Amino acid sequence: MLGRIAEAGAAGWSLVLISPFIGSFLGVLIRRLPDGSPVARGRSRCDACGVTLRARDLVPVLSWLAAGGRCRYCNQPLGWFYPGVELAALAVALTAVLIDGGQTAWLDCLLGWWLLALGWIDLRSWLLPDVLTLPLIIVGLAVTVALDPDRLTQHAAGAALGYLGLAAIAALYRTARGREGLGGGDAKLLAASGAWLGTAALPPVILLAALSALAAAGCLRLAGIRLGRYSALPFGPFLAFSTWAFWLSGTAG
Ligand SMILES: [Zn+2]
Repeated sequence: MLGRIAEAGAAGWSLVLISPFIGSFLGVLIRRLPDGSPVARGRSRCDACGVTLRARDLVPVLSWLAAGGRCRYCNQPLGWFYPGVELAALAVALTAVLIDGGQTAWLDCLLGWWLLALGWIDLRSWLLPDVLTLPLIIVGLAVTVALDPDRLTQHAAGAALGYLGLAAIAALYRTARGREGLGGGDAKLLAASGAWLGTAALPPVILLAALSALAAAGCLRLAGIRLGRYSALPFGPFLAFSTWAFWLSGTAG
């Protein structure tokens, strides 16, 4: 594995090295975006005691380990959230570099980190903010123009079909069950999938997302957490995972 990373060269290495810092930023985004708090100022205070954190308190993962998972000032447990997001961002970079080397790994990371933030926000807050889903559609189309302009029509159609397809499923579900099963954010996220992957990828993306959601529900059940008829899992994290998996299989192939 380290051999593959060495082959990836400076571009691959720098992605892996910056990824925990990107993860710190994503952590701030995941926490603040749903509340509408300013994201730009970064994580500057301890959530428990409000003390201003210094540079040495903000080194991804390492500060957390050095302080034993507690705030150095008030000794409150810091929780797994920030190191968790930082490690997830690192895992995205390692996966991208192992699969694609230094060539298109930065693009894999851009999409992977973006989807990581979206999926995590949906998991915590049950929403997929437009400020993240809509630009992801535009960037997907821009990437298509840059890499393979002949496919632009197909990817633009993918974005439109992704949105309309999931909006139609949501409307059917609402009529049949009399309650919301999918949010509007899911349709915009599937539009982004279509923009990045094209029309042909939409059915397998939905299928893999649905299967992984079922698998997750099964795991929760095994763990003793039963999802009742009216409880549900957010679909965004599974759509995000599935989209990234198909993007990676496309670039690797
Ligand atoms: Zn504190």
